[in-house]
Amino acid sequence: MNLILFGPPAAGKGTQAKRLVDNRRMIQLSTGDMLRAAIASGSDLGRRVEGIMSRGELVTDEIVVNLIEARLPEAEAAGGAIFDGFPRTLGQARALDDMLAGRGRKIDLVVRLDVDEVALKARVAGRFAESGRPDDNPVSFEQRLVAYNRDTAPLLPYYEAQGKLVRVDGMANVEAVASAIDAALDSHGG
Ligand code: AMP
Repeated sequence: MNLILFGPPAAGKGTQAKRLVDNRRMIQLSTGDMLRAAIASGSDLGRRVEGIMSRGELVTDEIVVNLIEARLPEAEAAGGAIFDGFPRTLGQARALDDMLAGRGRKIDLVVRLDVDEVALKARVAGRFAESGRPDDNPVSFEQRLVAYNRDTAPLLPYYEAQGKLVRVDGMANVEAVASAIDAALDSHGG
């Protein structure tokens, strides 16, 4: 089972992905986590992406596609992947489909966490101080939302056309969102 958790920044994708890792035979593939690890390690890649990420802009498709490709064997061995924060552009979505097809796999399900942007902004505003992420500030968060609406939201019709899109109310509490995701996975043979 390969699942994409889809939604704007701070919609709860990471929280739900971690829960699924604990409960199902799947690994979490978060390009954001991989990029933060690259920055923390002081690698060339980390230095290249640090400024882009702190401003809330997207890094290139090539960078994240390569990061994901390197982890696909591990995902297969685990029984599947939860893609968290990837793909974020149509180019990434097509590259992912091609990479999976080349390995005889596919995306099975795309869960979209539906959130209200105004409520989302209010929800995250109080958490900026404690997050520790350089992109968790009002200016960068706004830019992350802009990038989501401009580059990532257009993926919804792409997956809808493939009949893979399931919508879940991301404004509900964590347990209710988790139950809705579980129900979607169960009805798709996950
Ligand atoms: P996230 O942890 O998913 O919110 O990602 C944090 C930041 O990492 C984003 O704002 C982007 O700068 C970068 N990033 C993560 N995933 C991607 C992706 N799939 N495509 C482009 N940039 C990404």
